[in-house]
Amino acid sequence: METTILLGGKGLENRIINKLKAIVGQEDVLIHLEDRLCYSYDGTFQRGIPEAVVFPGSTGEVAEIIKLANMEKFSVFPRGAGTGLSGGSIPQSFGIALVLTRMNKIKEISKEDLLAVVEPGVITGQFHQEVEKMGLFYPPDPASLKTCTMGGNVAENAGGPRAFKYGVTKDYVLGLEVVTPTGEIMRTGGKTVKNVTGYDLTRLLTGSEGTLGIITEITVRLLPRPKDKKTALVIFDKLEDAARTVTAIIYEGVIPATLELMDRVTINCVEKQAHLGLPLDAEAFLLMEVDGSSSQVAEDIQIIETVCKNNDCRRIEIASLPEEREKLWTARRAVSSAIVQLKPTKISEDATVPRSKIPEMVKCLREISAKYRLHLPVFGHAGDGNLHPNILADKNDQEEMERVEKAVGEIFKAALDLGGTLSGEHGIGVMKKPYLEWELGEAGLNYLKAIKKAVDPNNILNPGKIF
Ligand SMILES: Cc1cc2nc3c(=O)[nH]c(=O)nc-3n(C[C@H](O)[C@H](O)[C@H](O)COP(=O)(O)OP(=O)(O)OC[C@H]3O[C@@H](n4cnc5c(N)ncnc54)[C@H](O)[C@@H]3O)c2cc1C
Repeated sequence: METTILLGGKGLENRIINKLKAIVGQEDVLIHLEDRLCYSYDGTFQRGIPEAVVFPGSTGEVAEIIKLANMEKFSVFPRGAGTGLSGGSIPQSFGIALVLTRMNKIKEISKEDLLAVVEPGVITGQFHQEVEKMGLFYPPDPASLKTCTMGGNVAENAGGPRAFKYGVTKDYVLGLEVVTPTGEIMRTGGKTVKNVTGYDLTRLLTGSEGTLGIITEITVRLLPRPKDKKTALVIFDKLEDAARTVTAIIYEGVIPATLELMDRVTINCVEKQAHLGLPLDAEAFLLMEVDGSSSQVAEDIQIIETVCKNNDCRRIEIASLPEEREKLWTARRAVSSAIVQLKPTKISEDATVPRSKIPEMVKCLREISAKYRLHLPVFGHAGDGNLHPNILADKNDQEEMERVEKAVGEIFKAALDLGGTLSGEHGIGVMKKPYLEWELGEAGLNYLKAIKKAVDPNNILNPGKIF
């Protein structure tokens, strides 16, 4: 597990700073250390201070900056809201942070074509609100949606609780406008659901973590907004019963929009912080939301109740009204901030397994936690096998961090042995680089490197990420 702190080196020469200011304007280039520090972190404990922070206002400006970077040989680290959980936006070498938040217009929402066109700096949660006002629905819902950007979501191929039923960001991206690592402006895909012209560059760029191009415009597919919703909070005395219930519900033909799991450690942290009346002795809870037509929702919730009872749940609460549902969701949303009560450094993993392997993965996580004497609360998107084992430690305690590193390796190994993946949604960034070959093999890794080399010969764009 690498920790990088770049304290700023020789600095960008004044003539280069002046050229950057000429491109984006005086105000939109930050060079003072206290400003640059604000762009040196993300949701991990990685740090790296950029030599300058630049805020382009248009695709043309992005292209000019990239051309300048190729000429003057400085790196460019694209950044949205900096909520990433794999160190993807953190500078790893001499270069600038390119922050896309000024490009934040929703350009089009079409009810006829069921699509929208947005700039990369649009906040995901605000986009949800705008499409929902028109009776439409954009499913990808990372828990960071109040701050993260659509560009960051595409670059990370973000998921979220609703991925279980509705899929992840890549299932909604129809087309992109991209500035290539050499500064050309390129379009991929388009406004049609069907499009097989050439290689599928939209898919290649979605999830490319800012290494293959800067995303400057995104066209996404929308759905009609579901008419009804109900939420169920189910308490279990045994974690294994909760994990078994997940597969049993799907076996009965119900696909909830969300199916979230929280273990006892997580429940205790949340209760201590949010005082929601959660039972501290419960081993797990499942939070499920079903959506669709009113009759479908009623039928699904009845099946869920029966399956939960058959799998020895202790209690079920069902909420129909928006404010009641919101209350049940408060517990899930409080998790990230609540668990840091245990220890200050949160290592948030998203190793993912086929959902039938959840009980085995949960067992492995418990063994790893005991073996390395670490706090390892487990919560996450159980419906799609994307648990979030979070290790809580103190980065200043070297001995503990060595145990963390070994535990992380074992978590990845367990997930891969069960037929899973290193990352369900957070990306590789810097955090998971050392393990990439375990999943892709040498040939797979070389293929990725060859693509990067072909499109970014000067290694300008987000160097030091993924591999
Ligand atoms: C509390 C919390 C909860 C979270 N929950 C979830 C969750 O449920 N699901 C999930 O998937 N993730 C989750 N995340 C992780 C994170 O929010 C997502 O990865 C999100 O997509 C990052 O968006 P951002 O705008 O913050 O991007 P940043 O963190 O700024 O950047 C992320 C990556 O994208 C690149 N990038 C950003 N913008 C562009 C662009 N325009 N062009 C090219 N590259 C770009 C960066 O270089 C970097 O590699 C969570 C994070 C936090 C802190």
